[in-house]
Amino acid sequence: MHLSTPHHAIIGAGLAGLSCALKLQGQGHRVTLFEKARGPGGRLSSRRRLETTFDLGCQSLGAESETFQLQLEVWQKQGWLTSEDQLHFYPPGRMSHLTRQLAESLATPDALQCQTRIVQLQQHPDGWWLTDDQGQQHGPFDQVTLAIPATQALALLETCGSSLATALQQAQQQAVWVAYFVLPAGLHTRKTQSPAVPLRRCTLLNDKPGQAHHLQRWVIEADCQWSEAHQHLPAEQVARQLFELWAACQQTPEPLLLEAHRWLYGFTTQALKQPFLLDNQTGLALCGDFCLGDQAEHAWLSGNLLARALSRPVQ
Ligand SMILES: Cc1cc2nc3c(=O)[nH]c(=O)nc-3n(C[C@H](O)[C@H](O)[C@H](O)COP(=O)(O)OP(=O)(O)OC[C@H]3O[C@@H](n4cnc5c(N)ncnc54)[C@H](O)[C@@H]3O)c2cc1C
Repeated sequence: MHLSTPHHAIIGAGLAGLSCALKLQGQGHRVTLFEKARGPGGRLSSRRRLETTFDLGCQSLGAESETFQLQLEVWQKQGWLTSEDQLHFYPPGRMSHLTRQLAESLATPDALQCQTRIVQLQQHPDGWWLTDDQGQQHGPFDQVTLAIPATQALALLETCGSSLATALQQAQQQAVWVAYFVLPAGLHTRKTQSPAVPLRRCTLLNDKPGQAHHLQRWVIEADCQWSEAHQHLPAEQVARQLFELWAACQQTPEPLLLEAHRWLYGFTTQALKQPFLLDNQTGLALCGDFCLGDQAEHAWLSGNLLARALSRPVQ
């Protein structure tokens, strides 16, 4: 371990990884975030289609804890979120706006390395070394944090034989299918409504702040039971089935766009009930929503609380 400023590698730039990175940087630590996707956000990300965007994961942010409520209000003051009732918070325009803003707040532009999927962790005398899927090595790091879904984290822990794997096996996350579609302009607009099983939530994106559009854009989520049962169906078939369930008993024209996305580890069905996992001996840690629950709040709190623990001097 280096006696100078500790250098942390964080794998995963979802809300948990970003929250951990920003807190550590605020405490004077060096941080490098690795993200396999083209941009940050994870399950807060949005997809571009037909010159518009679709929020495919998280639809709004809310807080049960005072800590996260205060954080939401800070982001609101910065103009990164809006809210009419101080209960439901939305980034203006699209969900990924928030995580883009958070990523841009990182101290140095090279603190976030996107399109870098980490596939192996190795501990050497000079620290931790990470290998990406192109065979490139990154390191050495004093500390490595996995801020990725539990099943993906387990696979990475196996590459270095960490004892954290035993505790992590208690967390369960399930697949979620989401269909998104566009209806032609000029139709009678159905409002965002409470759906019938197996649809868990149907959101008219046009209803969200800053998302007015001349076309009706919908995102509909299947519940975990349906998603698990249809996990291996091709996306086109899932999109059609979910659309027909949504449109049942109503005359609805053929959508201009109809697609589906599967979040393989979408929702936590069993949380660890502890804010993070940390092995001080090896310098390996885990954070993510699955530590505390199934909401964005849990991801942010987990990353933040881990960063606080990592900033404390080791006894
Ligand atoms: C359909 C759906 C709807 C939801 N709706 C809501 C809602 O309305 N309100 C709410 O509060 N919450 C909602 N949630 C939950 C919320 O989105 C999550 O709790 C939160 O985004 C999880 O953040 P995270 O950082 O823990 O994980 P993630 O967002 O999954 O971030 C993990 C990141 O790690 C990256 N990654 C994975 N493996 C690697 C690797 N090997 N190398 C590099 N990078 C890697 C991934 O690409 C990803 O960016 C919803 C979730 C889903 C799926």
